[in-house]
Amino acid sequence: MHPDVIQYFLDLVAIDSESKNEGAMIDRLKADLQALGATVEEDSCHLQTGGNAGNLYAFFPGQINKAPILFCAHADTVKPGQGIRASITGGRIHSDGNTVLGGDDKSGVAEIIFGIKEVLAGGEEHAPVEVLITVSEEIGLLGAKHFDLSKLRSGFGYALDAHRVGDLVVGAPAQNTFRVIITGKEAHAGVEPEKGVNAIRVASEAIAAMPLGRIDHETTSNVGIIGGGSATNIVPNRVEIKGEARSHNTLKLDQVTQDIRHAVQSAVQRHQFDFASAGFEWELKAEYQSFRLDDAHPAVQLALDALAELDIAARVEVGGGGSDANIINSAGLPTLICGTGMNKVHTVQEDIEAQELVRGAAFVAALIRRYSRQ
Ligand SMILES: [Zn+2]
Repeated sequence: MHPDVIQYFLDLVAIDSESKNEGAMIDRLKADLQALGATVEEDSCHLQTGGNAGNLYAFFPGQINKAPILFCAHADTVKPGQGIRASITGGRIHSDGNTVLGGDDKSGVAEIIFGIKEVLAGGEEHAPVEVLITVSEEIGLLGAKHFDLSKLRSGFGYALDAHRVGDLVVGAPAQNTFRVIITGKEAHAGVEPEKGVNAIRVASEAIAAMPLGRIDHETTSNVGIIGGGSATNIVPNRVEIKGEARSHNTLKLDQVTQDIRHAVQSAVQRHQFDFASAGFEWELKAEYQSFRLDDAHPAVQLALDALAELDIAARVEVGGGGSDANIINSAGLPTLICGTGMNKVHTVQEDIEAQELVRGAAFVAALIRRYSRQ
């Protein structure tokens, strides 16, 4: 496998592409995919999501007449991701400590492109290949949510967006996010506090009664943001609470979400008086659906065979996060998430072993070759 994948990765991380600012990165990838012979389309999802570039869809025609195979990665990085200066120490690529590295997910992008390049360079016959590079994945899967998934014709796919090469994430939870506004009644805290209803007090009681943290082996929930009040001498009349719940089991997700809402409702009811009452607004958003591929699924088996051929240890697991794979799976296209070598993502200590890029590209090439021969 071509070590140029390492240089290519370094080129990509040098291009700033924090979420909603992927324009330069998308332009570069469009040119690179076209140069490899793909027909490439950029959609206009950013008109709805507010970024400066759309998702890229690339199609490589094949000489073997069968459904394409899909590879997916995202073009955006988290913050701080401006002016990334990468260097290699002892075989590990890292930033200068002021930014993330952007291996999440440019390792996936580089491995997909170099895996395809490897197959094309061999001149062998292969099945058609689809590539989807999304934008704004890190801020709520916005690109994937606005992509026209009916374009995809693959029977199954691989999202390269997990930790170690050889990791195969075959399931991920569904997620709900909620926003609660608790209202009370404002009053002077020293002169006539009995005329007020303290929204912070009501919120405290509500949160104390919520099921939070690890609910069971497949369900979690969290309150992550709270805000309210304006001065120490005013009984506060408004508090905003934001949180989430996740589960691999849809019924459990519904239950924990209802329990959270019930905690709010009960606390508010305890503060409903004749003269002034607490109240609340509840907003719930289903962010994405869960998925679970059976270990016997052809997409999983193909990946296991490709890893065995490359002598890379496989680790089949169920994940705890949401990614573009949740969105693609919910459209009926089975997609598992594969490791790329990325480490300590979403921190300025993020790094990646350079050889993982080489292994990841070899894995992509092996998937295409094995699929083509099936
Ligand atoms: Zn990612």
